[in-house]
Amino acid sequence: MQALVFTGPGQLQVRDVPRPTPSVGEALVRVKYAGICGSDLHIWHGLWQVTPPIILGHEVVGDVVESRADELAVGTRVAVEPRLRCGTCRACREGQTTACRRSRATGVRLDGGAAEYQVHPAALLHPLPDTLSWEQAALTEPTAVAVRMIRRAGVQVGDTVLVLGGGPIGFLAASMARAAGAGRVVISELSSPRIDFCRSAGFEVIDASATDPAEAFRASTDGEGADVVVEAVGHPSTIGVMLEAVRTGGTVLAGGVYTGEPPTALRQVMFKELRLVGSLAYESREVRAALGLLARGALPVDGLVTRIVPLERAVEDGFAALERSRGEMKVLLAP
Ligand SMILES: [Zn+2]
Ligand SMILES: [Zn+2]
Repeated sequence: MQALVFTGPGQLQVRDVPRPTPSVGEALVRVKYAGICGSDLHIWHGLWQVTPPIILGHEVVGDVVESRADELAVGTRVAVEPRLRCGTCRACREGQTTACRRSRATGVRLDGGAAEYQVHPAALLHPLPDTLSWEQAALTEPTAVAVRMIRRAGVQVGDTVLVLGGGPIGFLAASMARAAGAGRVVISELSSPRIDFCRSAGFEVIDASATDPAEAFRASTDGEGADVVVEAVGHPSTIGVMLEAVRTGGTVLAGGVYTGEPPTALRQVMFKELRLVGSLAYESREVRAALGLLARGALPVDGLVTRIVPLERAVEDGFAALERSRGEMKVLLAP
């Protein structure tokens, strides 16, 4: 079968690999779409500790074509939950699955689904609601990330929320805050195509290329600041913004992925008595929540998929295009 293989820093190849076969408890999925994520770009550039060769792809949907698990029938349309956990460490035993010490994700540490087929544990394959289109379903994984971010941040009905970053994760986090009942949701973003996209979905957007976003935001709240600031960029330049823009006693949610060491700025955490909360991936219940929200149209995701690329053109028309143009939001690979 054809697969997109990371073979070393700066090197991605679409090549022929053996089709995997499922063991007991696993299923073979014929992949419909695999989304390209910011972390795939990090892996491509050698910024993550990933041992090649590995098939990329952790945002995967497809059909079950062979099942070795009683509870999962052939023909079921599924979304892949890529993070495998050991089931035996203390965090796993206590149900805190995101904290598993031996967790490994398919598409990152194990072969993923940017391929014609993927084998995966049946327990981590979530059946899709009938009303969900394949394209919407392909957003399940990043949507689950946003579900956990907003839950971890403790966003309450009526809250004022500032989201730093209007890429797919920032956009989904803002949409989730709105779905959770936030009173006012503002996105801060640098690139004009992304600003336009977020505005077209009805969000208030601060153009961070033209103005100091913390100052502009505080001014719009009579100097008070946000109840919750969500950081969805992963760049040191946003640390100061999030600490300035949050109100005294507010919450800052660290959701962006750093490839280097993030700076810490604990002075304001102390003086403003902030809650500083992290969010990593999701639990299974958050994947199910994402599916439910997408299926009932609770999120303004129309147009979020900006490009669908055949797998054999993954590098030129997928990865390179995402880097070339900030106008691309979610790009899907179609094996
Ligand atoms: Zn991802
Ligand atoms: Zn574990």
